[in-house]
Amino acid sequence: MRRWGRATAARRRMFCFWLLLLGFALVTLALSDLLNRDKSHSHRNPGPPRRPLQRFPIPLDLEVIVDSRDPALELGLDLAPLKSLQEDQLLFVPSTQGTKSPPQKKGNYKVLLPGTSKNATAPAPPTRGEMGKAVQLHLEGSERETELAAVLKYGFNEVVSEKISLHRRLPEARHPGCTGGQYSESLPLATVVICFHDEAWSTLLRTVHSVLDTAPKQYLQEVLLVDDMSQHGHLKSVLSEYVSHLDRVRLIRSTKRLGVGGCRTLGAARAAGEVLVFMDSHCECQKGWLEPLLERVAQDRTRVVSPIMDMIDWQTFQYNATQWPVRGVFDWRLDFHWESNLTLQDKDPDSAAHPLRTPALGGGVVAIDRHFFQSVGAYDAGMLLWGAEQIELSIRVWSCGGTMEVVPCSRVAHLDHHQLPYRFPDQELLQRNKIRVADTWMDAYRKIFYRRDTLAHFIRQSDSPNITERLRLKKSLGCRNFHWYLTTVYPQLYIPQDRPALSGELYNVGAGSCADYPRGQGPQGGPMNVAPCSGTGSQHCDLNVEGEVRWGPMGALCLDAKGERVVLSPCPTHKPTASRLQWKFIKLSGQLVHQQSQLCLEAVKEGGLPQNSTREVSNHASTREASNQASRGGLFLRPCTHQPRQQWHFEQLVAPKDA
Ligand code: UDP
Ligand code: MN
Repeated sequence: MRRWGRATAARRRMFCFWLLLLGFALVTLALSDLLNRDKSHSHRNPGPPRRPLQRFPIPLDLEVIVDSRDPALELGLDLAPLKSLQEDQLLFVPSTQGTKSPPQKKGNYKVLLPGTSKNATAPAPPTRGEMGKAVQLHLEGSERETELAAVLKYGFNEVVSEKISLHRRLPEARHPGCTGGQYSESLPLATVVICFHDEAWSTLLRTVHSVLDTAPKQYLQEVLLVDDMSQHGHLKSVLSEYVSHLDRVRLIRSTKRLGVGGCRTLGAARAAGEVLVFMDSHCECQKGWLEPLLERVAQDRTRVVSPIMDMIDWQTFQYNATQWPVRGVFDWRLDFHWESNLTLQDKDPDSAAHPLRTPALGGGVVAIDRHFFQSVGAYDAGMLLWGAEQIELSIRVWSCGGTMEVVPCSRVAHLDHHQLPYRFPDQELLQRNKIRVADTWMDAYRKIFYRRDTLAHFIRQSDSPNITERLRLKKSLGCRNFHWYLTTVYPQLYIPQDRPALSGELYNVGAGSCADYPRGQGPQGGPMNVAPCSGTGSQHCDLNVEGEVRWGPMGALCLDAKGERVVLSPCPTHKPTASRLQWKFIKLSGQLVHQQSQLCLEAVKEGGLPQNSTREVSNHASTREASNQASRGGLFLRPCTHQPRQQWHFEQLVAPKDA
């Protein structure tokens, strides 16, 4: 009994021991599972999407890399947010039929974009805002309406573009002195960085093929496509697939919207070529465009160069060659323009093949040495979305030791948009970019900008930009000031005097409106009229000590008189100013007196004919024309009286102490 009892007790102890052991084993297992959960997790339970970015830091700015040279890269990056790879608006089917743009290596593909094919069954792409909705309602399959929808979506006629070959050749437009050009054998290699956000398929791929078709292989390191977080379906996996079949083309994607400058800076950081060529995603290159750019950069690594930018019409996709000479400039509202009616001082007939120094370059195509780009401060990372980044780069390059030029033997055509849906989700973004330029680079001259862009002024008053980094850069590079830039690089820009009470909006007491220059009359000038005061600075003018009333953000148009009609015409480039262009403001009476005629500026009502022209009726066509114009109202010269329609004030929108 006892023996039996002892034996039982021993067995029970053994049992307890095993139980304990089992428990321990179980706890250890559970613990180890808990510790290793993340590592083995995906095998058992896919669960919600993982966030590997938090645990294994990989470049935050990159989402997917497609590289035809190294397919392993595609697999190597196990990146989480796959949303940009959803094929939600696109059909992508292997095709046996001939296509316009088959990838060169693998079979044939046909890309069916919604709306462009009768057979397309995919849902229409998402439309943007109210404008897009309105268009969809009218989309009943008619060609015209499809075109309208394309214009609203892309800012150009994508239906026409889609019908044009991705390999079309542009007609020769180069000067004969350019075509036989021999370039050095050892030019540096280029990376062509093409940033895009919601670009159309046809324009994007035509840009890529155009580079591949025109750039000599020995000078082309790669074409680097940078997707700035596009939403359109065709730019997702179909593009990745397409690009993976192209030689020397890489595609990287940003996981956050970077804007033009940020996107280009990202591209530059990933580029392997010695020279960066930033190119818009809707360009077409002329034969021989790359070599002259590379040569100019190779000769001097601080030279930043651009081709002549030809134009592709947004409606017809017709190619229009730009007339030489042309250079890039900007005005006091910090808007960029190409200026093409210049006369070259150099009378040498070969000058048409010589590079021309330029105060600024547009963003369409810019070539810059990669190291110089980095050392001069890339693009301003504080600039958002779109606008003024090329002006910032231009002022910085010049002020901090570089130069800029247009190289006429290089030509690239750029698609000029009609309007772009993405550009202004927020009106203030452009102003904020401009504020950064003004505050970083323009010293006291920034006041001239703020008087001409009052929205920027008010934003600046409530919110100052964080430009500490850029000011530090400016200091460390030993950059010159804006006065140097204005006098040395861009002496053609008129520097307004903006004297108090003699500059601002020209307000008419009788009409209760302001002197105005209707938009769209061009840089050569035209008739003035009165319109509601804008308050934005767009009607700002400046009566200077020479007696000229300088108009517009460039200050290059002057208040002038053609007979009785008051017009704007190009200001004189030499002094003394002719009395026809001189005015005197009598503060007490508010009269603005034309010095040559001693007549006064009057805001004539619609239908109000000036007495003179009715009295001196002649058969002269121009007099009849003046009378007709007067019946529509506008600004005229009239004998001086004290009536309110001859009383004017220069209203400064920005108080001098605030600017
Ligand atoms: N872009 C971009 N991100 C943006 C806005 C524009 O990558 O947030 C690209 C755009 O696709 C184009 C280039 O930057 O390739 C310049 O933009 P856009 O053509 O609108 O400027 P524009 O030529 O009209 O000055
Ligand atoms: Mn563009």
